[in-house]
Amino acid sequence: MSERRSIGSVLSRLLLVDLFKGLAVTLRYNARALVEARDGADPTQAIYTAQYPKERPLVGERWRGAPKLNNDPRTGESLCIACNICALVCPVDVISVGQANREVRDGEKRKKKKVLTTFEFDTSRCMFCGLCQEQCPTLCLELTQEFELAVESRAGLVWDREMLEKGIHVVTYKK
Ligand code: SF4
Ligand code: SF4
Repeated sequence: MSERRSIGSVLSRLLLVDLFKGLAVTLRYNARALVEARDGADPTQAIYTAQYPKERPLVGERWRGAPKLNNDPRTGESLCIACNICALVCPVDVISVGQANREVRDGEKRKKKKVLTTFEFDTSRCMFCGLCQEQCPTLCLELTQEFELAVESRAGLVWDREMLEKGIHVVTYKK
């Protein structure tokens, strides 16, 4: 029985059965697309391949992608209070928060306050577990739905505060 099965699998490999099965699926879809186009259907409806990057795929609601450090939309000031919690909870140590004590005005008074100076996020080692955003007390650190993180150099994978506040630049391609 096992001998018969092994002869069958050898024959199937020799005759490229899997390859022809794959081609049959492709031809079946192409034939359907041609029929739909002939019958006046919208030609784009007959395309089964994802047309990325002209059409951006919808990612899941809970997708965790490019990091972003949100500012207060009213004042433009950083919402980050430099508490360092995100860096402490990160299991792979990819966040580095710089802070300094500065004198700030509070009405008539002046007081010392810890403020954010620098923020570094190494996207190359991040595993997008979401612990940092979950623990952020001001909800300013967010893992957005943007997924285009590829860059040409290793250095570009470490994002500084400016880049984190600006967010990822999404290129829009025309159809
Ligand atoms: S998503 Fe996870 S691995 Fe990435 S920075 Fe946040 S805590 Fe660290
Ligand atoms: S946990 Fe939030 S507020 Fe605290 S340092 Fe990180 S980003 Fe800033």
